[in-house]
Amino acid sequence: MIKKYNVIIVGSGPAGIFAALEIAQSSGLSVLMVEKGQDLSQRACPSRVSGTPCHECSSCSLVSGWGGAGAFSDGKLTLTPDVGGWLKDIIGQAPTETLLNYVDGVYRQYGAPDKIYGQDESVQKWRDKAILSDLKLVPLPLRHLGTENCFSILKAMRKHLEPYLDIRLKTFAVKILAENRQVKGIETQEGERYACDYLILAPGREGSEWLSQEARRLNLSVRNNPVDLGVRVEVPRAVMDPLTNDLYEAKLEYNSKSFDDRLRTFCMCPGGEVTMENTGGNEPIVTANGHSYAGRQTENTNFSILVTTDFSEPFNEPIAYGRYISRLANFLSGGVMVQRLGDLVTGHRTNNVRLAKGLVKPTLKSATPGDLSLVLPYRHMMGIIEMLSAMNRLMPGISSSHTLLYGVEVKFYSLRLQMNEVLETEIHNMFGVGDGAGVSRGLSLASASGVVAAREVLQRAGFNHGNGSGNKKKGTSNS
Ligand SMILES: Cc1cc2nc3c(=O)[nH]c(=O)nc-3n(C[C@H](O)[C@H](O)[C@H](O)COP(=O)(O)OP(=O)(O)OC[C@H]3O[C@@H](n4cnc5c(N)ncnc54)[C@H](O)[C@@H]3O)c2cc1C
Repeated sequence: MIKKYNVIIVGSGPAGIFAALEIAQSSGLSVLMVEKGQDLSQRACPSRVSGTPCHECSSCSLVSGWGGAGAFSDGKLTLTPDVGGWLKDIIGQAPTETLLNYVDGVYRQYGAPDKIYGQDESVQKWRDKAILSDLKLVPLPLRHLGTENCFSILKAMRKHLEPYLDIRLKTFAVKILAENRQVKGIETQEGERYACDYLILAPGREGSEWLSQEARRLNLSVRNNPVDLGVRVEVPRAVMDPLTNDLYEAKLEYNSKSFDDRLRTFCMCPGGEVTMENTGGNEPIVTANGHSYAGRQTENTNFSILVTTDFSEPFNEPIAYGRYISRLANFLSGGVMVQRLGDLVTGHRTNNVRLAKGLVKPTLKSATPGDLSLVLPYRHMMGIIEMLSAMNRLMPGISSSHTLLYGVEVKFYSLRLQMNEVLETEIHNMFGVGDGAGVSRGLSLASASGVVAAREVLQRAGFNHGNGSGNKKKGTSNS
């Protein structure tokens, strides 16, 4: 072993960072954080800069590096345990609410804006309107950071943490070291071995494939979450302004008449941009996503419609299924495909000429015009078309023939490690947090889960969280 630390954290996304913040403020434990991506200031997506298809960089700057997927995210902090993950199923509703409050307070401390959306009387107004349109609106209090604020908040956290931990960027943890179900440390891609008493795994969605391989190698029990598959929809901002000005984001749910599938809207980005996301790993795939800035707006608003698919017998590999469909889209378009709704409905492939005639100008310049009916399963396609026409009653213009659909958007939250109520895995002193461990699928719950694991580590190491006892900077610890 090169060096021994009390705690090692794998991944510097919101889950890993919040674990580190918690430990740094309350203890003198020595902490190593390893992150395979770059530092925040070096994170830039060449494809985004040049408007060309995904360059398939070995570590995708959009989702990897200091801040994880949080760095280029839209920065919507959802302040309810009911969306964004499964933490409440593991630790309970009330403790999750308390933690969300706490996490929100920390984001505020580092510069999150004051305004909370989705709490006033307009919620009831939109709820009633939604019911008349065959839709269910799930109330969602949220704070919007905006992509540029995500950056500055993560930068401030980095600065604060610097004196307290060793941060190793561009360092890939390839192997978890454990003996007799007791954690021992990690091995990096360069073959360096670091020992630890406690290991917190926070590899994010992008690292979930790596984690599932490690879980298989270490014989850990996992269960599958469903896979969410669908499209990102882009419309002129004016179409959705009445709703997004009131609520910022609306979680709308719809049950398809054709297949009785559950569909939902996700991640509304008013005045935002559609973006690409690369899953990384051995066989990277490129999917659609969206974000918006707090301080500047485009002419469009985007959001996704996702269809939840559960598998049971004999096939139970939702990740493989989602990857297969995404790869098909990549195969046909070289990355993300875009189609006008009118073309999809009338059975035409969208080409550059048709796209140029459209009233909605795509914000993802590198998307290739194509035919989503060659990619999406029929039931998904029908459900999406149906849901858009239900939404058209709520927001006239949303199912215009000019509406753009980008495919595919897929959320891989499928792997969930077997964990107890403090997020400890079947390996003693090894914890799983955030999206990669299947606990969360959003910033707030990812951050909250990091706090849960960190507090347990502090407790076991003899520190009471929050008392600030023995708060030492690195180099003075007992490693
Ligand atoms: C474009 C976009 C917009 C989004 N908008 C929102 C939003 O508005 N609201 C919201 O709640 N959520 C949003 N999200 C989702 C949110 O960003 C994630 O839920 C959150 O970042 C998850 O945090 P995490 O710490 O679990 O993982 P991540 O943020 O994914 O971080 C994991 C980190 O671990 C690193 N890593 C992985 N494996 C290894 C390894 N083996 N060794 C070393 N390092 C490793 C990765 O490089 C990565 O940096 C968005 C995501 C994207 C991509």
